[in-house]
Amino acid sequence: MSNADPQELAKFSELAHRWWDPESEFRPLHQINPLRLDWIDQLAAIKGKNVVDVGCGGGILAESMARKGADVLGVDLADRPLKVAQLHAMEAGLPNIAYRSVSAEDLAAEQPGHFDVVTCMEMLEHVPDPSSIVRACYTMAKPGAWVFFSTLNRNPKSYLFAILGAEYILKLLPKGTHEFGRFIRPAELTRWIREAGLNPVQFKGMGYNLLTQQYSLNEDTSVNYLVACRKPLSAP
Ligand code: SAH
Repeated sequence: MSNADPQELAKFSELAHRWWDPESEFRPLHQINPLRLDWIDQLAAIKGKNVVDVGCGGGILAESMARKGADVLGVDLADRPLKVAQLHAMEAGLPNIAYRSVSAEDLAAEQPGHFDVVTCMEMLEHVPDPSSIVRACYTMAKPGAWVFFSTLNRNPKSYLFAILGAEYILKLLPKGTHEFGRFIRPAELTRWIREAGLNPVQFKGMGYNLLTQQYSLNEDTSVNYLVACRKPLSAP
C-alpha cells in the first residue's frame, strides 16, 4: 500500500457509519452529487457504460451512476466505507454495482484499457502521490474514454473557504478533513493529466452560496473544481 496515507484512510473509516446520513459530515458530498452526476452524464452519457469510481468511499457518486444505468465498479482502500457502500447498494437492490478494495495502480495493472468512464472525485488531495493516481486512471481507461477528476485549489482563498470557512466557521466538515499543503492547483493537475497522456477538455468550478446554502457549477475554479479529460483514441 505505497501510495496511500493510513491516517487519511482511518479518518474516513471512522466516519463511515454516517456516510449516507445527508445531515452528517458527508452533507457536502450529498449536496454536490446531483451537480457532478449531471455534468458527468451530459459529457459521457453513462447509461450502459463500464464505469469505475476511484476512491468511491461510501458510494454516493458510484450508486447514483448505477441508478442512471451504468455498470459501476467502486474502488477504495478504506475498509469501512467500502462495507457501508456494499450494504447500501444491496439494500437498494442495485445489481449493476460492485465494490472492491484495490489501489488505483493495481487495478490499472490488472485491467488496462478496460473502462469507458473513470471518475476520481475529492480523492487526489488525500493521497501522497496524486500524479500516480492520474496515470493509473489513464491506464485503466479505454481509448476514447472520459476521465473525471475533482479536487481543491491551493491559494489563500481556498484556505479561507475550504479550511477556515468549511471546517472552523460553518462546521460543514470535521476539523482536519483537509490538509492545505495537499491541495492541488489546476496548473499542477493539468500537467499531470497531460503527462499521463490525457487531454483536459473542460474545467468547472463549484461555488457555495452562503445565503441559500446551495452549491452550483460555474467557471470559478479558485476553490473546488472539476476537470473532464479524454483519453486519445490512439496512443501518441
Ligand atoms: N469519491 C467519493 C468519496 C470522497 S472522500 C465522493 O466524492 O463521494 C475521499 C475518499 O478517498 C475516501 O473514501 C478515502 O478512503 C479515499 N482514499 C484516500 N486515499 C486513497 C487511496 N490511496 N486509494 C483509494 N482511495 C483512497
